[in-house]
Amino acid sequence: MADPQTTASPCPICKKPSQKAYRPFCSKRCADADLGKWFSGAYAVPGEPVDPEALPPQERPQDDDA
Ligand SMILES: [Zn+2]
Repeated sequence: MADPQTTASPCPICKKPSQKAYRPFCSKRCADADLGKWFSGAYAVPGEPVDPEALPPQERPQDDDA
């Protein structure tokens, strides 16, 4: 039977048994490592990037009634 103290899935980063507090990771270190993969672009993000600088500011609706 499964031990309630350990999950079936090991840490996806280092393959150690995952800890309940950091599931599915074994530690904050590994959770941060996974988060870092998102920022480094290891995961593909669908959709086009939205660049507010690309929009001409003069075409934005002005709200001048104070
Ligand atoms: Zn780990």
